[in-house]
Amino acid sequence: DAKKKGKGQVVFCSEAMKKDVREKMILTNSLHRALERQEFYLHYQPKVAAESLTMVGCEALLRWEHPELGLVLPEVFIPFAEQNGLMTAVGEWVLITACAQNKTWQDHGFKPMPVAVNLSVEQFRGDLTTMVQNCLTQTGLEPRYLELEITESIAMEESQDVIETLHQLKALGVRISIDDFGTEFSSLSRLKDLPIDSIKIDRPFIRGIGVNPKDESIISVMINLAKKLGLRVIAEGVETEAQLIFLKEKGCDEVQGYYCGRPVSAVDFEALK
Ligand code: C2E
Ligand code: MG
Ligand code: MG
Ligand code: MG
Repeated sequence: DAKKKGKGQVVFCSEAMKKDVREKMILTNSLHRALERQEFYLHYQPKVAAESLTMVGCEALLRWEHPELGLVLPEVFIPFAEQNGLMTAVGEWVLITACAQNKTWQDHGFKPMPVAVNLSVEQFRGDLTTMVQNCLTQTGLEPRYLELEITESIAMEESQDVIETLHQLKALGVRISIDDFGTEFSSLSRLKDLPIDSIKIDRPFIRGIGVNPKDESIISVMINLAKKLGLRVIAEGVETEAQLIFLKEKGCDEVQGYYCGRPVSAVDFEALK
């Protein structure tokens, strides 16, 4: 906002700005401790078949209960964690926790279904394949019950290392999907070369259903293209019945969103299963 005030004007730090800086410092300092203090936990959100509305899987979503600030959402703290090189360790905790939870559910007689885990770009700089393999071995979860969600920007990395890693992961037998698909539209031609199983259409497009015909056209094209490439399509952020009906009509395979179930604790999730 300093820019708006024009040249030559002295801009004092407002109380709000000071509070912001203070909170960022608290966040960064306490993030280093959060793992050992066991302040992280996971929520699980159902993925539902568009046709039958039966649950076909879930996504694990990271939560941080800060002792003073309370619940901090991933969009706030993950950028800090990445800047501080913490997402490799945190991501490993997420993966092992989600795999162990999914195995426990199977052992308790719930219908086996994949759990999806989000990956940070930082995790691709280490030995991700070995880490994933170790998680599967340690927890005893079969690879087909693990799905890895990578962002479109990871999928579009030109780096040969990233592509190589994706092929290694695929060879382990896990599923791979591209998250938040459609925001970097340049990606279409790359899809044919990547070892992926599905794409997840990003929420902003879904929000346009019934509102913006252009969003509806883009969704239709994305679904058709994905189908022709043999990929499954999941819609994110489905909040209304009208959105669900549109997506079903267009041939979308799965939906995820508040309309079908919010992210909840592992215990609450069992009641949905
Ligand atoms: P994402 O992977 O695209 O996850 C979907 C986000 O949309 C989640 O936000 C979910 O709570 C929210 N959501 C689901 N359905 C609806 C809906 O109907 N309406 C609206 N408005 N929102 C909905 P959340 O849990 O805050 O996570 C935000 C992002 O943080 C995730 O986006 C993912 O990119 C990242 N993230 C979360 N957990 C992890 C993790 O363990 N590792 C990494 N690397 N990233 C994570
Ligand atoms: Mg995701
Ligand atoms: Mg997403
Ligand atoms: Mg997202």
